[in-house]
Amino acid sequence: MSRTSTTATTENPPVRRLSDWDAGRLRELADEHGTPLYVQDLERVRENYARMASAFPDADVRYAAKANTSRAVLRTLVAAGAGIECASAGEVERALAAGCPAERVQYTAVNPPGEDLDYAAETASERPELTITVGARDTIDRLEERGFDGRLCLRVNPGVGAGHHEKVQTGADAKFGVPYDRARKTLAEADERGFDVVGIHAHAGSGISGEALDSHRELVSRMGQLARESPVALEFVDVGGGFGVPYRPEEEPLDLESVARATREALGEVEATLAVEPGRYLVADAGVLLTRVNTVKPVADGRVVGIDAGMTHLARPAMYDAHHEMRSLAPDAEDRERVASTVAGPICESGDTFGTHALPIPERGDPLAIGNAGAYGYEMSNQYNSRPRPATVVVDGTNDAVDRRRETIADVTRLERRVPWV
Ligand SMILES: *Cc1c(COP(=O)(O)O)cnc(C)c1O
Repeated sequence: MSRTSTTATTENPPVRRLSDWDAGRLRELADEHGTPLYVQDLERVRENYARMASAFPDADVRYAAKANTSRAVLRTLVAAGAGIECASAGEVERALAAGCPAERVQYTAVNPPGEDLDYAAETASERPELTITVGARDTIDRLEERGFDGRLCLRVNPGVGAGHHEKVQTGADAKFGVPYDRARKTLAEADERGFDVVGIHAHAGSGISGEALDSHRELVSRMGQLARESPVALEFVDVGGGFGVPYRPEEEPLDLESVARATREALGEVEATLAVEPGRYLVADAGVLLTRVNTVKPVADGRVVGIDAGMTHLARPAMYDAHHEMRSLAPDAEDRERVASTVAGPICESGDTFGTHALPIPERGDPLAIGNAGAYGYEMSNQYNSRPRPATVVVDGTNDAVDRRRETIADVTRLERRVPWV
């Protein structure tokens, strides 16, 4: 069967680069809402979902919410047909609050705190369509103790990993999933104990790319094998997420059609439905972080440029050495010469830098946009250095609205209680 590719049309290009964003509109948003400011384009989220769904036409697409939990993003994806994969009780709460039906919610319990299991078991007693994925026998015991005997999926450690950085490779990490050679026995035991065993799951980590396709293929092939040997009839085989996006302008976008083809081939014949869990792929290039230059320091070989966003707003560069493109939104940016600019945030940490970029000679007050900030951007933000978290704005066609207000300096002390004797 041959299908016409819909991934490379001009209406839905496989990647949106930072240079494709409308600078005037971003500048207006920065002026209206202040900086630092996350901007997420829901139309682009829909496009990314459509491309994924068309590459995997008979697979179940479950959005990994931890990439971006904005209510508007969740609602957009649920309306488009996505299920939601949740990494915690808090994310299950968000998925349900966003209107995702429980049968489309999957909670992946990784060394789950008791509180999360209490919540999941209680939720499942009211909405038995909820699926819980477990990665250890202990978790099965702990669910049973809480009276849960509902839809159970087993996370398997397939012994292969992929990822753009060792911190995001999970497939071969013993933290995640039951060892592959113990999976069949665990499935049979869970079935005997009365759980409704519905699926198997593996996630290799983030960064399926051209080069890492072989380890993806290997993971999927092992999961196909396990599905065929499963002692229990399975509803689905979930091969996780990790679909890469290009962070540098010279990087090619993922060829999703060939990833999908490789996935099908590697899976082989199975009775169960294939499920995938893209996180980053659906939201990364739909988001930018807007910031403003506050300090320009000439140095021998260029400039050190201080901005009002730092590692507390966007942690990926400090945490993973990740590259994020940077673009000046100054109205006359095109007319300025470019200069090597080392961009640094306001946090008292030497790691608080965003790398060196050839920027149009920066001036104090210039708005800047940081690209590909839609995934693991706001989600990893924190209050280190007592810095309030930024606001997030969603845009959709000509509409825009704040969907998370900016924290204020007063919010920084909001949770504090007076200790009576000091
Ligand atoms: C993080 C995660 C994903 C999504 O990973 P991406 O790299 O954002 O696609 C999918 N499944 C599980 C279990 C995850 O933990």
